[in-house]
Amino acid sequence: AEPAAPAAPEPPAAPVMEQPETVNPVIKFQGPITVKLLAQRMGIRPNRLVTDLMRLNVLASINERVEVDVAKKVAIKHGFMLEYEKKPEVQKPVIKKPTLDDDGEPDRPEDLINRPPVVTILGHVDHGKTSLLDRIRNAMVAQGEAGGITQHIGAYTVDVNGRHVTFLDTPGHAAFTAMRARGANLTDLAVIVVAADDGIMPQTREAIQHARAAGVAIMVAINKTDLPGANIDRVKQQLMGEELSPEDWGGQTVCVPVSAVTGAGIPDLLEMILLQADVLELKANPKRPANGYVVEAQLEQGMGPTATLLIRNGTLKLGDIVLCGPHWGRVRALVNDHGAKVKSAGPATPIKCMGLSGVPEAGSYFKVCRNERMARDAAEAEQAKLKAGQLQPKRKVTFEEVFAQAEAGELKELKVILKTDTQGSAEAIQHALREITSTKVSLNIILAGAGNVTTNDVMLASASDAVILGFHVGKESSAPSLAKHEGVEIYLHQIIYELIDQVREAMTGLLAPKLVERPRGKAVVKQVFDIAKKGRIAGCMTTAGNIRPAYRARVRRGPDTLYEGSIASLKRFQDEAAEVREGQECGIRLDNYGEFAQGDILEFYEIEEVRQTL
Ligand code: GDP
Repeated sequence: AEPAAPAAPEPPAAPVMEQPETVNPVIKFQGPITVKLLAQRMGIRPNRLVTDLMRLNVLASINERVEVDVAKKVAIKHGFMLEYEKKPEVQKPVIKKPTLDDDGEPDRPEDLINRPPVVTILGHVDHGKTSLLDRIRNAMVAQGEAGGITQHIGAYTVDVNGRHVTFLDTPGHAAFTAMRARGANLTDLAVIVVAADDGIMPQTREAIQHARAAGVAIMVAINKTDLPGANIDRVKQQLMGEELSPEDWGGQTVCVPVSAVTGAGIPDLLEMILLQADVLELKANPKRPANGYVVEAQLEQGMGPTATLLIRNGTLKLGDIVLCGPHWGRVRALVNDHGAKVKSAGPATPIKCMGLSGVPEAGSYFKVCRNERMARDAAEAEQAKLKAGQLQPKRKVTFEEVFAQAEAGELKELKVILKTDTQGSAEAIQHALREITSTKVSLNIILAGAGNVTTNDVMLASASDAVILGFHVGKESSAPSLAKHEGVEIYLHQIIYELIDQVREAMTGLLAPKLVERPRGKAVVKQVFDIAKKGRIAGCMTTAGNIRPAYRARVRRGPDTLYEGSIASLKRFQDEAAEVREGQECGIRLDNYGEFAQGDILEFYEIEEVRQTL
């Protein structure tokens, strides 16, 4: 047998072959890479990076995003290794603000009917919210509706001369805004209750601000008019101060004097609610499969999970397959607010539903699915997300985030909740903040008031995508953890001008920086050279200014612009040149362009970012 060929010599264990320990340092990225961030991480000035990017034919301003591939390239140039890990999409929680027709065809106009308004009662503590809700509910029972005993299922519907009004049974802006923060915008109309003997109080003001932030219609019920100390005109006067001028005083706000104790004015109130509803033109399509929100839910002995659903659109029927977050099920029974079993429920109707696999969270969205498999698959996917802790990731609204959104052209409004030590400083700061608003960016102070930052404030911020600014105040004990959970940022200040400056800065940032072209030089093409591998090079005479490799170039022939892009190489004689001045000759190669002709004019310029001020 042939002797085996001598084995290949072992590679010499030379030290040169050892992996050198000067491996590029790694920078890791998750989520969007902006020019600013990348520059920071590499320890270079953002403008320098902008220039480098221009060389790669990428025109990006400081706050713009950079593609991962491009970022990797520039990182290597600066001696770094960039590792990118795609972040799970955390932009917007999936169940926030679903549209009415998110699971099918848009509603045909001929299928739309008027639907009942959904009303929430807000106001200061002890002004009679609960009494009013009870009074309205009992008035309905007295009218002898079917069913008998009223059931507290979280909401109820009353009959007003053949038309319906639905009331949410949990009064107060805390519950109202908490639902909204979950994405459940159930309410069409807020009735602000003001006790006629007490007038507008801090929580009345807060309630008004919460209702305004939600963008719902507002009405006022002036309650306790039966009391000797009642002063309706004084309340109206105070309402003027809250920019809720009463209708009978020439304003826009409907004000109805009532008494929850005697029942006086209640029919008027209901009638005015219906009038307001007409103005709002509330429509729904009873022919489609139902969707809506969970008002409340619990585990009930002998019944399993039960959930009060408020139907937003469509009709819910016995036997329907309902999907609600991680839960699903076939509707086994429907019980209305009188405790009567029914076969179906239409738009804006609260209904207690049995048959779900678990207890959903209040405020969750539900919809009817076409078949069991779809519902089960979707529910299981949601359960898996829940286990992995990925469900409902919270957006964080920070000044930086607001800035980034504005950069992307998505937002031109900064929403702020302002809490201060005294009402006086609230007004002073509001005034100062309003001074810095501009026509380009609007500042929306959705709530301003005295006192510590409360959980209510946090929920309002969460529901409205606002930031919270505090001046000389602290945080209610459970506010920080809630803020963390809701992704709400709280900025506390001790010095007024620092607070104002912070807002000014964010608002100045809201204005996308303007990119301005700065002409640098001109050259005329004298001769064109073909260099086998490198493409075509223009032999030029610099006729004005100067040329540097970082400049951008524009090729012009007569009135036409043939090309705009970056310079691939700039040479004087055989050498790379850092600069070529007027009167000097040079050889220019452009990125991806070589169609020069003798006599073409090359213009050179830089792009400068000019921050716009207010
Ligand atoms: P809420 O905290 O706003 O829900 O207020 P409540 O409904 O609990 O009412 C607070 C107190 O005011 C209770 O003692 C009620 O009986 C009383 N109250 C409510 N409405 C009226 C009213 O119209 N007239 C009178 N005299 N008392 C009322």
